[in-house]
Amino acid sequence: MLKTLSSKIALPLCAAMFFFAFSACQVEDEGQFFLNSRLEIKFFGANREAERLCRQEITRFLEEFEQKASAHLEDSEVSKFNKAKAGERVQLSERVYKLFELSMEYYQKTGGAFNHCLYGLSKLWGFMESDGIYGIEELPSQQQVEQLLSYADPSLIELSDGAAVKFHDAVKVDFGAVAKGYALDVCGQIARSYGIKSALFNMAGNVYAIGYKDDGAKFSIGITDPRMIETGEEIFAGVRLADTSISVSGDYERYFLKGGIRYCHIIDPFTGWPVNTGNSVSGIISAIVISQNAAQADAFSTAVMVSGPEEGKRLLEQNGLCGIIITADKKYYVVGDVELFGVKNYERAEWEASFGR
Ligand code: ADP
Ligand code: MG
Repeated sequence: MLKTLSSKIALPLCAAMFFFAFSACQVEDEGQFFLNSRLEIKFFGANREAERLCRQEITRFLEEFEQKASAHLEDSEVSKFNKAKAGERVQLSERVYKLFELSMEYYQKTGGAFNHCLYGLSKLWGFMESDGIYGIEELPSQQQVEQLLSYADPSLIELSDGAAVKFHDAVKVDFGAVAKGYALDVCGQIARSYGIKSALFNMAGNVYAIGYKDDGAKFSIGITDPRMIETGEEIFAGVRLADTSISVSGDYERYFLKGGIRYCHIIDPFTGWPVNTGNSVSGIISAIVISQNAAQADAFSTAVMVSGPEEGKRLLEQNGLCGIIITADKKYYVVGDVELFGVKNYERAEWEASFGR
């Protein structure tokens, strides 16, 4: 089995997935950085000119999108919204408006587990530095957490006619859990418009697959082992898929340790604490979601991390999605029809037994 391991593992921020078992005619690139992540594109097919033009258009789109959607860039539309005063109308481009709309939809569909208004809390916990360095000297007080939690409320934003208005100065958004997925959906549309029939896009734990491999088989995607330091294995398992997207969220790439406790970058919007700290006990260390829609996969993988296995399963089923949930006790749960293979160090949990029914 041919693995393109080294380059993927070397990714500085996220490398939740990498591909293996490629056919001979793949076109690889070194990747470019967008939204703090590297985008890798692999085309499978013969029309090199279409691929070149497609790549150019994708680069243009991503550069422009990042300028508008990044919470880290001073002049982005997102930063303008975050700095705006209550009642001020912030006019948005079509794509950023779409991010606000989609996020509201996912907030509702996940019962609030996905929440795009956690900017203040992510910053408080030390995950919002624009240089990508995270962590904090001292843990925040419960009072600080609760104060910010009261503004982590998407209903304090009104959307109309391409503009967003907030009801309180302190409401601040961050699309870190959905923007990469959304960007991949647009990349997919661009590629299809160039007649591309077979391709893979990988952006920090979000993979978008167009069609099948050129030999007609499904793509094999390797999912990173969330506890590779303990198991010594880089891959948790492989998943076979075609013409769909997959998103991996986990507590193992952006986190810091304090007093033996792992504080990760996914915040529980119900407590204001990082998942699996304080009173947030989802027990999940990695959540993998498969959806036709990459934005949805991205948002739901983050939401499932917050929700715990049982509620996570319910969320996926209710929305017609498939996925895998990996818990701290090295068990994994499969929801729906997932073509999973090669699991080594984790034990498959049975739903009923595990919840003591
Ligand atoms: P990654 O961006 O590492 O691939 P995710 O897609 O799971 O991981 O998104 C995590 C990011 O989303 C965080 O870094 C933060 O910006 C934001 N975020 C944190 N917690 C939540 C949450 N509960 N709902 C929505 N966004 C969140
Ligand atoms: Mg996500």
